[in-house]
Amino acid sequence: MQQNNASFDAIVIGSGIGSLTTAALLAKERGMRVLVLEKHFNVGGQTHEFKRKGKYEFDVGLHYIGGMDKGSGKAVFDYLTEGRLHWQKMPDEFEKFVYPDMEFNVPSDGKLYCQRLVERFPAERAAIEQYFRDVKTAAGWYSMGHLGDALPAVLRPLLKLAFRWKGGLAALTVEAYLERHFRDPRLKALLASQWGDYGLPPRQAAFGMHALIVTHYWRGAWYPVGGAKQIARAIIPVIERSGGQVLSGKTVSEILVERGRATGVRTVATLKPNRPPVDYAAPIVISGAGAVNTYLKLLPRHVDIPFRDRLHQLPPGTSAISVYLGLKASPATLGIRGENHWVYSGYDHNRAAADTSFTQGYYLSFASLKNPQARSHTAEIIAFAPYDRFAQWADGRWKKRGDDYERLKQDIARQLIDQVERRIPGFAALVDYIDVSTPLTMEHFQGNSRGEFYGLPATPERLFQPWTSAKTPVRNLYLTGGDVMSPGVVGAMIGGVKTAGALMGPFGFFKLMKTMAVAGRRTGQPSSGAAPESEVAPAG
Ligand SMILES: Cc1cc2nc3c(=O)[nH]c(=O)nc-3n(C[C@H](O)[C@H](O)[C@H](O)COP(=O)(O)OP(=O)(O)OC[C@H]3O[C@@H](n4cnc5c(N)ncnc54)[C@H](O)[C@@H]3O)c2cc1C
Repeated sequence: MQQNNASFDAIVIGSGIGSLTTAALLAKERGMRVLVLEKHFNVGGQTHEFKRKGKYEFDVGLHYIGGMDKGSGKAVFDYLTEGRLHWQKMPDEFEKFVYPDMEFNVPSDGKLYCQRLVERFPAERAAIEQYFRDVKTAAGWYSMGHLGDALPAVLRPLLKLAFRWKGGLAALTVEAYLERHFRDPRLKALLASQWGDYGLPPRQAAFGMHALIVTHYWRGAWYPVGGAKQIARAIIPVIERSGGQVLSGKTVSEILVERGRATGVRTVATLKPNRPPVDYAAPIVISGAGAVNTYLKLLPRHVDIPFRDRLHQLPPGTSAISVYLGLKASPATLGIRGENHWVYSGYDHNRAAADTSFTQGYYLSFASLKNPQARSHTAEIIAFAPYDRFAQWADGRWKKRGDDYERLKQDIARQLIDQVERRIPGFAALVDYIDVSTPLTMEHFQGNSRGEFYGLPATPERLFQPWTSAKTPVRNLYLTGGDVMSPGVVGAMIGGVKTAGALMGPFGFFKLMKTMAVAGRRTGQPSSGAAPESEVAPAG
């Protein structure tokens, strides 16, 4: 084993948006030298991109983001990237929900969305209007439910009391809410169409999480100009300016703990795992690798984590298959304008989630139509997929899992392309290149166990749990990213602010949010203020 003697004030594990946010804020606000260690050979976590055939660029975990015109999410992005990141607005009807006998286009305006639903289901007018009030309330409480640890310890019981009194909606399941308020099964299904954004069907997902997504997109959706990779590109200079570094291809194999304190990390070269490990030391270690990875894989067993057993028992999150398509020509020739398509073959989302046949539904996105700098056209089809369907190849190596695995991937891809072709004739003929990722790809690259998409499941039980806290039971060890706030790029970024805030003393999170909101106003980039609200949330 070797010791790297470079001196850093903090080490951050992973380079997802949560990690980069915490690292950049520590660099910018405190002048700290931060070392970011990423296991993948590309940085950015799920906002990274990859290229095939030298021209097709694919994003992995960013298809659309809400609130990039104003508000707290926009203020944070502007502050972190110092204005280097620009956003392209998606078409006004940015989302299409497709069912066997019904299509619905979601407009970039919450009021109009409500109105269109009322026009379609006039008999349920009162319930629809109530729903639009309830999602606002539930979104706020769900965010607050993840911000308890950003308050001084004496105030936390008060927040819990307030939550019990007023926040109950956020802790219902989506199904419980919909069953209680609506009669028409088609309307219930329609309202839950975006469940893929948080990866849990209505029976399991928290209504508060659902509400975050719905309100997040009330003013429409945006995509980064130049693609998702621009996010890391725009933030990294801030980290480097204070003497920090962002290194890819470095897998952290262990968090080093001495006398109850985190003191550094042990790393192995991702592509050359037989090389001797290298240790890095720093007085603060921050993990953006997810709660489950951090507590169950990176911390040695002898370190006492009071909730380790409960973490072991959490239900697994959802995983999926992504079909990346290089296209010969623009999909605009088929009438596509860059909107997302959520396509379902029935109205039962719980059933769709349990499906193993890839016939119950898929999500379709066209990155090249959203990115004005795209040089060739692409599309992506995503369908939820059970890990177990691929588990027999889990021990194989990336790209060397064998012909059966490759054949299965190609069969599923063809099946999904055929389904799109039936809806959008001419689509299959546009396809020039096909690449497929499975839950094993996600497990391999992101380190997520069983290829989970979104980290900790967004169930009602997720609220107020110690494993969503930025501070950990180990002194000087912190957690960042989606798991300390909510899934989604903006959710994970706000998680990153929460963690930086935890290192900056009482009310650190709220002070940081205020600093960024004020900076946004000064530079003329509008921001709605410091308070966490629905815009701080995520999206899928
Ligand atoms: C297919 C898909 C589509 C999505 N679409 C959207 C969308 O349209 N809009 C949206 O807002 N959100 C979307 N999301 C969700 C969003 O991308 C994530 O919630 C968010 O980016 C998570 O950020 P993070 O910082 O928490 O973690 P991640 O981005 O997951 O980063 C964690 C990083 O840690 C690294 N790591 C793990 N273990 C180690 C280790 N031992 N050593 C070193 N590094 C390690 C991983 O390689 C990874 O880079 C999508 C996600 C997926 C999977």
